[in-house]
Amino acid sequence: MVAEQQGGTGATTGATTRELERMMAEFPDLPAEAVIKQDILRQGLAFSPDALRVASGYKPKDYFIFTFDLVPVAEMAEHAAFRAPEEIRMTGGPYDLRRTVVSTRVAPDSPYVVELRDGKLTLACEGRFLCDLEFPPIPGYYSHTLSSGKKISEIAPAIEWGYLVYLTVYRLCQYWGRDEECRFCDLNENFRQQRANGREYTAVKELDDIVEAMSLINQHDTVSQAYTVTGGSITKKLDGMREGEFYARFAEAIESRFPGRWIPKAVVQALPLDEVKMLKDAGYRIYHPNYEVWDAELFNWICPGKDRYVGRDEWVKRILDAAEVFGPTHVIPNFVGGVEMAKPHGFTDIDQAIASTTEGLEFFMSHGVVPRFTTWCPEPTSNLGRQEGPPLEYFVKLLRAWRDTFEKHKLPVPPGYGRPGVGNAEFSVSAFMDVIRTA
Ligand code: SF4
Repeated sequence: MVAEQQGGTGATTGATTRELERMMAEFPDLPAEAVIKQDILRQGLAFSPDALRVASGYKPKDYFIFTFDLVPVAEMAEHAAFRAPEEIRMTGGPYDLRRTVVSTRVAPDSPYVVELRDGKLTLACEGRFLCDLEFPPIPGYYSHTLSSGKKISEIAPAIEWGYLVYLTVYRLCQYWGRDEECRFCDLNENFRQQRANGREYTAVKELDDIVEAMSLINQHDTVSQAYTVTGGSITKKLDGMREGEFYARFAEAIESRFPGRWIPKAVVQALPLDEVKMLKDAGYRIYHPNYEVWDAELFNWICPGKDRYVGRDEWVKRILDAAEVFGPTHVIPNFVGGVEMAKPHGFTDIDQAIASTTEGLEFFMSHGVVPRFTTWCPEPTSNLGRQEGPPLEYFVKLLRAWRDTFEKHKLPVPPGYGRPGVGNAEFSVSAFMDVIRTA
């Protein structure tokens, strides 16, 4: 994609700008920053060649778990693949935006184009100046190499403007094939894609590499505040270990050397109680047993492996059981915002989709558990494939439902996500932290 070749439908019609302004007018109690952020996550970003040249001096997208791209790597213009920045940070412009961090999802036809104007990085929407931009700096620790010769960025990349070190320690999932893999997920496919493109991409990361990487980060970095350990599900055993045991070892090793240096988080399945306790004993402070989608029938369709191996009711029960171990505020299950509208079986009506998801929010929040969401990115190589995600109106209504339920139950700000509130939030894949009112 080059700026002068803008060809997305929104690029010439003004439809994107009109919809942004309609949403801002209809939901004046939500920050404009959050509305724009959700729309960029929904539609993705295109880059001019000049902007990509500038990006080479900043932190590139590290493909830390899923692709989070709207086109496969093979179809990106050559220059865009692997050179786009991890995130952008918007400020100023006609809406006078406060600093807002947004994750990069490469979409060559997006109406949102990162380009240079008068030598400055800017974001244009449908050809019109939207705001000034910054790219994330390359963390100082990236210049170090592990004794195994592996690149530290491959073992311990930083996201969220450096706040979070993301340790995807197992880059495959034992839910395998269309009858088991979650339908929105391209983790197994991302692995194959990265390897096919000749990238160094390790399936199971060595504990020694992780510990060495964290020790270099400890020495050379002051920005990171938290780390996430995650990977695919282990339905049988991996290296002779069950899922809880396998993932527990990483926090155990890190926390025994650097106790309390970071907030340790585990993103794994909703596990039986004994495995949850292993995670807690290992030192994890936050547990993310993601529930993906609330509606029971959609869970069965979208997460066939989880439904078959664990079952939706058991999954939900395990989340509440985990709250007894970690404390409810430290159990933060994710759902994939918008996937309940996936074709062909999802909701077709925005308000019905929001009502279903709000029921789930109400259920968990009434137990003191605060779910968070990421923005569904219909990755073309996932089972749901190339399809249009929900409209902006869905995401704006979701933000309002999340914030209102959160405020109704007077819950504390979820820990491990950096600062809350518009102008502060670093969490980059949805605007849930941006809409928390801090005053
Ligand atoms: S459990 Fe589902 S979402 Fe997680 S890695 Fe496996 S297929 Fe993907």
